[in-house]
Amino acid sequence: MGENATGVKSFKIDHRRLRPGLYSDTKAYSGRCITTIDMRLVQPNSDDNPPLSTAAMHTIEHLGANYLRSNKEWEKAIIYFGPMGCRTGFYAVLDGPHPSVEQRTRHLFLAMAKHIVEWPEDKPIPGATEEECGNYRDHDIQGAKAAMQKWLEVFDMEKEPNYYPFSYPE
Ligand SMILES: [Zn+2]
Repeated sequence: MGENATGVKSFKIDHRRLRPGLYSDTKAYSGRCITTIDMRLVQPNSDDNPPLSTAAMHTIEHLGANYLRSNKEWEKAIIYFGPMGCRTGFYAVLDGPHPSVEQRTRHLFLAMAKHIVEWPEDKPIPGATEEECGNYRDHDIQGAKAAMQKWLEVFDMEKEPNYYPFSYPE
């Protein structure tokens, strides 16, 4: 494990054991408490559960960022939201301690997912004009909605009572 990888918890997690969920890591950076949220949509390196397309990822990035930044209660805490290069999920960086086990934090990300699921297919995607976006043709609203719907099902605890999708595997 390289020097740079030691600071971010998700790099130290055994990705063979990582399943979809909502994970978090809170650390102090220069005396400031910062939370990294790992919004894991698909199981890493799984043939049965392939990574998202770039187009679906891109649309989730636009709709997700728009939702988080226009959320009055949270807008000041949102530092960053963006895709993982492996296309298995997203990172959100929040100002302050906001562990994913907390009801308030869970609610934000699950509400964001519902917001995307409910987004009308014919409604323009925020920030996705040629003027505003670096690859405005590469969007997939149906793919984005399907991925979010599938992710929300992970939190149906009745389906699999022994699976706790809010803590990284030990
Ligand atoms: Zn874009």
